[in-house]
Amino acid sequence: MRIDLHTHSAASDGTDSPAELVRAAAESGLDVVALTDHDTTAGWEQALDAAPRGLTVVRGMEMSCEGRGEDGSPVPVHLLAYLFDPEDSAFAEERARLLAERTARIRAMAERIAVDYPQFDPDAIMAATGTAAGRPHLARALVDIGVVTSIAQAFEGPLSTRSPYYVDKVDTPIERAVEMISAAGGVSVVAHVRARMRGRILDLNQVRELAGRRPDGSAGLGGLEVFHADHAPEDIRPLAELAEELDLVVTGSSDYHGDNKTLSLGEHTTDVEQYERLLAQSSGLTV
Ligand code: AMP
Ligand code: ZN
Ligand code: FE
Ligand code: FE
Repeated sequence: MRIDLHTHSAASDGTDSPAELVRAAAESGLDVVALTDHDTTAGWEQALDAAPRGLTVVRGMEMSCEGRGEDGSPVPVHLLAYLFDPEDSAFAEERARLLAERTARIRAMAERIAVDYPQFDPDAIMAATGTAAGRPHLARALVDIGVVTSIAQAFEGPLSTRSPYYVDKVDTPIERAVEMISAAGGVSVVAHVRARMRGRILDLNQVRELAGRRPDGSAGLGGLEVFHADHAPEDIRPLAELAEELDLVVTGSSDYHGDNKTLSLGEHTTDVEQYERLLAQSSGLTV
């Protein structure tokens, strides 16, 4: 069984439609693929409808959260959420708030960029973002008008956190996100826990705090994404050991974004025993 539990479609900042993504997943030999767009479930229906026979589509999302960094200051953390009830009202409200933050933030950045580059059209960019706007949408537009020659260069320059065009957004505190996902019957997994190249990373003591049962008896954090292209080889074993110690599910994924990143579906995968443990923890949707 080949299982890839983290991918993005054009419902957020990937480039394949959800239907194209599930067809590509089957063609690349996957048996299971999770669709985990940023802060939205908008691609679920199309992905399920288009899933070729023999491919299981897991309904997921990658939630924008704020955690505690190794130096004690806040850091952005991505939290994968699987098989939660999309109708749960508290969680649905928080997703709507996150999407509104994304839209306002990307528009604000686009307007700042347009002051220096009049050929950069904020309205056209916002019209092309799908449900969840993100910096990759700005990156593509910057490549198109020739300000930079690649998406990577856009992230190093005009879209970096140090750029005058950069605007922040307000993400969900990770402890609150874990609670909401559990309350909606889902399972939470910290994405790319040691992706150091993205900047400061999460304090692993916070992972310890999030794991295990919460005081009200609800489930805490469900797993850690260990196998990921942004992880250095030396980070894998300590992460796997921490997951074992805390009884967390260990996942692996491609974090596929279509043409917005040079990653292939199934580049990293999840073991079937770990996938089954994840399914067993869900009290929300089934696959
Ligand atoms: P945002 O969520 O709008 O802040 O944008 C972050 C998104 O951009 C994440 O999905 C990252 O995977 C993606 N990203 C970050 N750095 C790069 C890069 N160098 N090349 C392509 N995508 C990137
Ligand atoms: Zn992304
Ligand atoms: Fe991520
Ligand atoms: Fe991702």
